[in-house]
Amino acid sequence: MNKQTLVFATANLHKLEEVNQKLADTPFIAVAMKTLGVTEDIPETGNTMEENAHQKAQYLYDKLQIDCFAEDSGLEIEALDMAPGIYTARYAGPQRNNDDNMEKVLSQLQDIDHRQAQFRAVISLRFKGAYYSFEGIIKGTIAHEKTGEGGFGYDPIFIPEGYDKSFAELDAGIKTSISHRAKAVNAMVDFLLTAT
Ligand code: IMP
Repeated sequence: MNKQTLVFATANLHKLEEVNQKLADTPFIAVAMKTLGVTEDIPETGNTMEENAHQKAQYLYDKLQIDCFAEDSGLEIEALDMAPGIYTARYAGPQRNNDDNMEKVLSQLQDIDHRQAQFRAVISLRFKGAYYSFEGIIKGTIAHEKTGEGGFGYDPIFIPEGYDKSFAELDAGIKTSISHRAKAVNAMVDFLLTAT
């Protein structure tokens, strides 16, 4: 199949890999922005994931003049008023360290039984002169400790609904089929299939 490339405004190779697993059976393939020479951190100064995703897609489009997409995602924990949200990557500080971030969440929830949470992903797609937004959510709970080696970010402490293992313990194929990012990518692909 001759695939149509979509430039992805990310430096996160885990995200790129997850998106491309999802695109495997479609006419599309995502290529990292660095393939086109964009290596800087794209500013993310919005107040919502929607704003951040749009800002990243617009930045890349303005730079390359090529249709592209960006994704912003984060963890929303009910007992913490949906924090860390847009601060997910830097929750424990500017060092953006996954272990520090998870430790902060685990200690904040130490005496809390209500552990419901969700991962949310928002994709902003620039396509033929307009921007389109797609959302994906996976609900679950925050574990009491880290388990598993797979995945990235907060995967070792997130147990998706319907499973008893963390995203980091589950087979990568399961995450690819049920994750927030997978759902947002599905919505984008459905749109592209009808629009192209
Ligand atoms: P972003 O790259 O600015 O969108 O930040 C996303 C933050 O959410 C990072 O800290 C990621 O580690 C975290 N995150 C997003 N998606 C996932 C996921 O699928 N698993 C674990 N952590 C995630």
